[in-house]
Amino acid sequence: MIPASVDDAVGEVALRSIDEEWMKPSALDAAQQQRLRAAFEQVLAAQPPGSVPAHRLEFRKSRIGPNAFALPGGTIVMTDELVTLVDGDAAVIAGVLAHELGHVRHRDGMRMLIQASAVGVLASVVVGDFNSLLATVPVVLGQSAYSRDAERRADAESVRLLRDAGLSPAVMVTFFEKIAKEQGEHRLGIAIASHPADEERIRFFREAAAQRQR
Ligand SMILES: [Zn+2]
Repeated sequence: MIPASVDDAVGEVALRSIDEEWMKPSALDAAQQQRLRAAFEQVLAAQPPGSVPAHRLEFRKSRIGPNAFALPGGTIVMTDELVTLVDGDAAVIAGVLAHELGHVRHRDGMRMLIQASAVGVLASVVVGDFNSLLATVPVVLGQSAYSRDAERRADAESVRLLRDAGLSPAVMVTFFEKIAKEQGEHRLGIAIASHPADEERIRFFREAAAQRQR
């Protein structure tokens, strides 16, 4: 019932608030950013035309350490610290971005917001005024985490996109092993590294990597 334009507005409000609290402009040079964007688009090029949700990749220097997250409306933020942690490995970074794209595809940020403020959302839909909903965005996206199911779905998306592009899901095992030792100064609920990856999650990627390509 919520129009896509509301997702965009929510994403903008969220990014502004996250930028104010935790982010600085990226220190990655333009060529490095371009290389990583191109590598991700190359992965997505293996998908059927029109099947990839609209998205926009932003780099930021952060106080949340190596991390990445997706916002409603399709903005995906990756921190410089994550790029450094994986030595700029484009395949690992594409795997993380593919996970975030899964959250975009399923509108997980909006789902969480709606669950956290159900009555307010209903009122917003009825009167067509989403300002009170927008006011809750920074708190909800900052403190809440996606459901286990949402994370599983995003992990599955990562495996699917990597495989379709001829890359091994093993890159995500590398990612979670590296990230396990890192913690930022602050935690952002919706971000990929803000909750330690459990055994089950790492096993999922390890088994996916062991399966033969279709
Ligand atoms: Zn996630």
